[in-house]
Amino acid sequence: MSDCLFCKIAEGLIPSDRVYEDQVCVAFRDIDPQAPTHFLVIPKVHIDSCAQVTADNAALVGHMFTVIAKVAKQLGLDSYRVVSNCGEQAGQSVPHLHFHVLGGRDMTWPPG
Ligand code: AMP
Repeated sequence: MSDCLFCKIAEGLIPSDRVYEDQVCVAFRDIDPQAPTHFLVIPKVHIDSCAQVTADNAALVGHMFTVIAKVAKQLGLDSYRVVSNCGEQAGQSVPHLHFHVLGGRDMTWPPG
């Protein structure tokens, strides 16, 4: 069995505060929220990071963005930030592709 944390969350082996699920992806609240609303969108299949996005899985990634828009709207966000840390130097701590969606407070730019 995969030792990947987010694969286990996707399979329901580790509990999460889910806000959305379909056949290809899951959205759940971040355990350490960095904004009043902070959820993650992950694919059910294992993809390491944005660096592994190819023409073969591009439709899945596009679908994840439709889920981001839908769930953000359902949670009352009309302004939000979407972030994906790719690689350790960029701050990726879980090596399974995920998009952070943060909203509910003023954001600054550039990010640290
Ligand atoms: P990153 O550091 O960009 O790879 O993002 C990983 C995110 O996963 C962090 O924001 C963590 O707070 C979050 N996280 C880690 N474990 C869990 C968990 N069990 N449930 C929900 N979020 C988690």
